[in-house]
Amino acid sequence: PARTRFAPSPTGYLHLGSLRTALFNYLVAKATGGQFLLRIEDTDQKRTVRDAEERLFQDLEWAGIEWDEGPKVGGPYGPYKQSERTALYREHAEHLLQNGNAYRCFCTPERLHELGEYRAKLGLPPDYDRKCAHIHKDESDDRASKGEAHVVRLKVPDKYPVYNDLVYGLVRNRGELTTKPRVQASALGSFDDPILLKSDGFPTYHLANVIDDHHMKITHVIRGSEWMSSTPKHLAMYQAFGWQTPLFAHVGLLLDKNRNKLSKRTGSIDISSFREKGVFPETLTNFVALLGWSHQTGNDVMSMDDLIKNASMKYTRGDSVVSFEKLWYLQRKHAARYATPPFSGNPRQSLTELAVKPMVANLDSRISTENLPLYAAIPEGEARENYVRDILMADAQNYTTATEFTARNIYFFVRPGKKKLRTQPPTLKLHGVPSTITYPVSSSTLALFRNISSIPDSDWNLASIKEMTNFIINRGVLTSIGEAKAKGKGYVEEGTEQVVKKAWTKLVYHYLRWATFGGNQGPDGSETMRILGKEETVARLENAEK
Ligand code: GLU
Repeated sequence: PARTRFAPSPTGYLHLGSLRTALFNYLVAKATGGQFLLRIEDTDQKRTVRDAEERLFQDLEWAGIEWDEGPKVGGPYGPYKQSERTALYREHAEHLLQNGNAYRCFCTPERLHELGEYRAKLGLPPDYDRKCAHIHKDESDDRASKGEAHVVRLKVPDKYPVYNDLVYGLVRNRGELTTKPRVQASALGSFDDPILLKSDGFPTYHLANVIDDHHMKITHVIRGSEWMSSTPKHLAMYQAFGWQTPLFAHVGLLLDKNRNKLSKRTGSIDISSFREKGVFPETLTNFVALLGWSHQTGNDVMSMDDLIKNASMKYTRGDSVVSFEKLWYLQRKHAARYATPPFSGNPRQSLTELAVKPMVANLDSRISTENLPLYAAIPEGEARENYVRDILMADAQNYTTATEFTARNIYFFVRPGKKKLRTQPPTLKLHGVPSTITYPVSSSTLALFRNISSIPDSDWNLASIKEMTNFIINRGVLTSIGEAKAKGKGYVEEGTEQVVKKAWTKLVYHYLRWATFGGNQGPDGSETMRILGKEETVARLENAEK
């Protein structure tokens, strides 16, 4: 069983990239029967955003990513917020000072700044020259006890440990993916000794992260590739403490179509913006799971349960380009899935919660300003919910957002304007039938549709509507063939009846859709009539005939 963690810094809100990191960690823990931890890395108090933590909890919960240990739920290795663990970090820094793997650095910010500028001029990396590494231990202790400001730095080994990244394979050096030549020999010395403890006694990310991963018994660290250059330092720290290292998997960045890093400017990336648009949690988790992960299931549409079942660490190397068309494709697929009985998923993530309620809210808010007479006539509450649910069930495979779906299905809410029937009766174009014979549809046959009004009110259901539609089709077939025969334009060949029937079926449904739904695309014709109700259907048919 794997123990994984998501360790966000509350410096911003959850976005696509961080959601994916959280999800990957969650899936690996769940798939192996392990635990997923949430840890708040708030050591950089200056950059902390006030409501980031609360929003993070909300967004993760919304996405269905529940943590086994962490804030709010607790756990055996808490607290799970780094600002509440500072004593632990200080103890450990002290331990490294004792065993010679760390040293106090008294350099002033001014000196470090000058050093940095000087090094930059020489084309050297912004490393430290280890001036303070040479201060004798007694002197260092003495200056510290007198209150002289200092930081604690790690004394990195001459050679970084090599590690086997689960995505990138063997990684040497500073974990840089490109092999930039490193300036080694310089009179100044070039030491990448990271600060572990800041002068205010607060730990840096590096120190707190490593100590917590160890103490929280993390087995797999799955994180963004922007942290890859830190990993060798972390390994050096594990070594200095004498601890076993977890396994590391670094996953690439998310890019927009122009291969720029995803940003607010190029597309909404905050999780809350997707939620506000009406994207389902499982659409979004499915969407981000597919970014930089390869699976062999042959079907990209996966619920959270499917993701857990198929979880693997087959992450792809390099960055992933995000295509939002895929998001809406998945949204339609998940809507269709929710609408297909029996739906046995999490009821919080059901069609009613995710689509019916938002649609009702959307429509309710619109009836005062827009003319939605059919909808407005339905009593508020459950009756409206039922009406909307029927429409959703009939056309779920086209659901994206409440607004778009309403626009697409607007004729369930408004009666289409009067349309003039074509004056010339349409002629059936039949394939496979002698072209010398035509099978006209006379306007009198269109009157067949009036039969629909003879369905008793109490019998207005899908079965009787379908039965009536079939009756109309069959009558139409007979009439057409009869008229053709009467005109003596030849004989009726074997198989003609089926062809004529096919054409009539198409014609009848086309006509019904045209008459009831203003010629628009819409769900199944019989189902549309059932949902509209008898009165409204008959009124529309009459309208169309006039
Ligand atoms: N606190 C870091 C972040 O904000 C965690 C990086 C890691 O997973 O080690 O992403």
